[in-house]
Amino acid sequence: MSTKTTKRSSPFEIAREALGHVGKFQTPPTPSVYEVWYRYVEGVDDIIANLSHAVEDVNAVSVDMLEQLHKQYCVHIEDTNTDLSDNLASEMTSLQSILESQMDAGKQFGSELDEACNSLQDAPATPENVAECAQRLLSSNNTMQDQIRQLQTQLQASQSKVQALQEELNESRTAVMTDPLTNLGNRRHFDVNVRQSLMLARTENQHSYLLLVDLDHFKSINDTFGHDCGDKVIMYVASQLTHLCPNAPISRLGGDEFAIILRTDDYSEATDVAAEIRQYFASTPLKLSGSNEDLGKIEVSIGGSRLRNNDDHETWFVRADKLLYEAKNAGRNSVMLEHAR
Ligand code: GH3
Ligand code: MG
Repeated sequence: MSTKTTKRSSPFEIAREALGHVGKFQTPPTPSVYEVWYRYVEGVDDIIANLSHAVEDVNAVSVDMLEQLHKQYCVHIEDTNTDLSDNLASEMTSLQSILESQMDAGKQFGSELDEACNSLQDAPATPENVAECAQRLLSSNNTMQDQIRQLQTQLQASQSKVQALQEELNESRTAVMTDPLTNLGNRRHFDVNVRQSLMLARTENQHSYLLLVDLDHFKSINDTFGHDCGDKVIMYVASQLTHLCPNAPISRLGGDEFAIILRTDDYSEATDVAAEIRQYFASTPLKLSGSNEDLGKIEVSIGGSRLRNNDDHETWFVRADKLLYEAKNAGRNSVMLEHAR
């Protein structure tokens, strides 16, 4: 039997199918396991992408895998804004009841049609009887049309509300993962991307490099030119990192430290990227906008570790952090990357 999912719309249909998966894959229906199956059936792309291979083999889906997916793709959805999620859920319920009313109206019209046909069969088809029957049909048709128009108006209003709430929810999800100073991802964004990288390594054998970039002697910028100027430097570094690594997830971990995840396990490719970043900053003198005051060059140190099969969130980070420390100890303005093993 094919286990491929197609997007479903009715919550009942989704719930039924999600429970079917719970049973088929023998995964106990804890709230998080159930939610992952629900989102899978509902058609959340990231969850489908992560499960599509595993569902081909009943034994390949584990509770662990589902818990990971829940942390990665569901937890922040709940956390972001409970009111919004509640509003969305209640709007979906009202949408469903509108649809049910529409179906009831259709059924009612059907039985009125039946009744009219029966009355014609039971009585002689005199012109009076036919005219009366036609009158009844006309009147129930008008009632039906009115009802449909009303329901359509309600449906449109409800759909626009759902869409607006959905957009608000998406914005809210983005906001909780964004660093307000730089607009890069924040630590939460980093955590999500690390988990995604661990999952990619496990399911697709796609390994990554984690680069930690920290500004050298950044305190002296704050001390010499003031905290606002320090903020501008952080914003500048963030925007340049985005230009230098346009396709990589970049997060600001706090202060003057940034994390970049490169989707490569090739040591020389990762080293080239890190060297380019270091070189770019080291060779670009800065002036303070407005005053033309010379800030000198901003130098950075970079530590990088390659994701290993037995890594978890912490071990991967700790190795990169150690290498960053070594780069600082080696005199700063330098790059230390781990070779593949
Ligand atoms: P090192 O070369 O060892 O990295 O030295 P450093 O001076 O860069 O020191 P470190 O990275 O340990 O500390 C970063 C400093 O950044 C500490 C804090 O005063 C400052 N800082 C942290 N957050 C912000 C911020 O949002 N804005 C500004 N302007 N400064 C910040
Ligand atoms: Mg620093």
